[in-house]
Formats: sequence, C-alpha cells, structure tokens
Amino acid sequence: MNIRQQTADGGFELAARPRVLIDPFARAITYLRVSVTDRCDFRCVYCMAEDMTFLPKADVLTLEELDRLCSAFIAKGVRKLRLTGGEPLVRRGIMNLFASLSRHLQSGALDELTLTTNGSQLRKYAAELARHGVRRINVSLDTLDPAKFRAVTRWGDLDKVLDGIRAAQEAGLAIKINAVALKGVNEEEFVGLTEWAHGEGMDLTFIEVMPLGDVGAGRLDQYLPLSMVRAWLAERFTLTDIDYRTGGPARYMRVAETGGRLGFITPLTHNFCESCNRVRITCTGTLYMCLGQDDAADLRGPLRASEADDVLYAAIDAAIARKPKGHDFVIDRRHKRPALARHMSVTGG
Ligand code: SAM
Repeated sequence: MNIRQQTADGGFELAARPRVLIDPFARAITYLRVSVTDRCDFRCVYCMAEDMTFLPKADVLTLEELDRLCSAFIAKGVRKLRLTGGEPLVRRGIMNLFASLSRHLQSGALDELTLTTNGSQLRKYAAELARHGVRRINVSLDTLDPAKFRAVTRWGDLDKVLDGIRAAQEAGLAIKINAVALKGVNEEEFVGLTEWAHGEGMDLTFIEVMPLGDVGAGRLDQYLPLSMVRAWLAERFTLTDIDYRTGGPARYMRVAETGGRLGFITPLTHNFCESCNRVRITCTGTLYMCLGQDDAADLRGPLRASEADDVLYAAIDAAIARKPKGHDFVIDRRHKRPALARHMSVTGG
C-alpha cells in the first residue's frame, strides 16, 4: 500500500508503514465503524425524533474522502470495516464506496467489509454488495408485527424489509438480525423472533436501548434489561454460553431447541469496554473514540489540509491516545435527560 508523506520541498515520498493503533489501555484498535450519512428512510422511535434536522450536504465527507479516511485506518491496522448511518444504503453512490474499498479485501489488508442496514434497500443492492466482497450483514428488525413495525420505525414497511432479507439470502449473504429490546413493544416476541431468525438460518442479537439523543420519549419507558430477556427466554429454551465472537461486543449462546446462535449486547447491565477494539467516525469526519463519551477529534480538517496522509495519521494517533477506558450509561429515575446529546444516527450504531 502506498503511504504518501509530504517532504520539506512540498513534494511527496513513500513513507514507512504507519504505526498500528494501540490505546492507553493496551487495546489494539482493529475495528472501524463509519457513518456514511446521518439520513435515514426510517424514524425509529428510540433512535431519532420525527422532526430531525439533517446536516447540510456540504458538511458531509465526499465518497472519495470517506475512502481516503477508511484507507488511512486500514493502513494503521484496522482489519474490520463496517459502514453504517443513518441508513448507509440511502447514500447516493454508496456502491462506488463499497467497490473502491473492496480493493483492501483483495489485497488482504482488510479481513471484513460489512454494513448495518434497516434492510429497506436490500432488494436493490444485495447482489452488488456480495460482488464487492461483503459476506455478512447486520439487519435491524425489532418486530415481526407489521403494525408494530410501522409504529416503531414510524415510516417503515415490514414487507419491504422481509423482501430485502430474502434478497440478501439469495445473494448468499450471511445475516445477523439485531433487535432492540423495547418495553411494551416487542417483549412478547422474543421467543417468536428467535424461532423465526434461527428457522431462516440467521443469527439474532438483542440490544439494550441506550440513552443517546433526545428522542421525545422517556428512556425509562423503553428500557428493558437483557438480564430479564434472558430469564424469559430461558423459560422456553435451553441456553448455553458459547465462545463465538465476531469482534463485536455481543456475547453469544446456543439455543438447543433451534440450534441457532443468540447474542446479547448489554451496554447497561454489563459494560463491555475492557475488550473494546473499535472507534467510530461520523459522516462529517468526526472521530469518536467511545460511543458513550463526548470526547471527539476532527479528522475532516487534517484530511482536507493536505493531500499527504501524514497530517491525518498524526491526528488519528493523537485521538487514539485519548481513547477513554469506557462509558458508563445510566438509565434511572434520577437521569431523565439523555446521557449524550447526540443520536445513534450521528455516530452510527
Ligand atoms: N439504519 C441502519 C440500521 O437500521 O441498522 C444503521 C444505523 S442504526 C443507528 C444502527 C443500529 O442502532 C440499529 O440496530 C438500531 O436499532 C440501533 N439503535 C439506534 N438507536 C439506539 C439506541 N438508542 N439504543 C440502542 N440501539 C439503538
């Protein structure tokens, strides 16, 4: 891989491979999640307010800038790249970014190129994603009840998402369904979702709702600890913890009755920061070293300051040196405001 570095006379030379990213707690940063747009065709009640104001297009990195930023992290040791959003598949020209990033899969610099999607555009894009080297995808789906689906997503159409999932299966993509556990919404569906996902040959992960952004609803009204979900599922299924890991925060178990894998992401009841290997970039080039903290570093300035990558590398190094030990989300009656002002759609879930 060519690493460009500016010389004293303003020219460029090839530099040695940049240092890999190790944070102050000796964690190697090998996983980058990039929000390619803050826009979405859904308005999930726990994620966005209905009347969201989106960023002006001029503030958002171009696809070429996103490629350069991702490539800089790959040069610094990132092995897994996830595009997210907003909804990544509503970004115009997004297949060009997948196509260009796939060169890192071909060179062996990257182990995995993937995305998190609401599934609404999969019928259109699944085959092309597979052609660009995507092998596994995460699809967010909280309920199989069409009316509830519409209520949770405000604008979504369940049939379209299910058809998108079929298209992804036809294209040979492995699918993991992510479902946020929502009190009063899908608590009666945990068994049904498990049977459906596993029956379709898909993994399923439940996620605790996180206090990110003001969404116009009390978090206490939405929050369900996954310890309770597990207890309910255990009344019906035989659950055995397994060592399977995908490089993410989920802890997995095997469901004996379905033969499938079930994951739990529990940022509130069990903080998973000690093994954190990831950082996140917004579509404006802001690097968040922790999903649950406000500290961030601007990478758009360094990216645009010079065509050479050394300024960018220095900014990335300085940011990783500030990666905090962890977050501490709290949802209780004394914490009525969101723990963080920014929505999940900004940082990318
Ligand atoms: N649009 C894509 C999708 O629906 O998967 C990608 C972005 S979305 C922000 C990524 C994931 O974050 C989704 O699974 C969504 O359910 C989850 N999410 C959003 N807000 C959340 C919150 N406050 N707590 C927990 N999960 C959240």
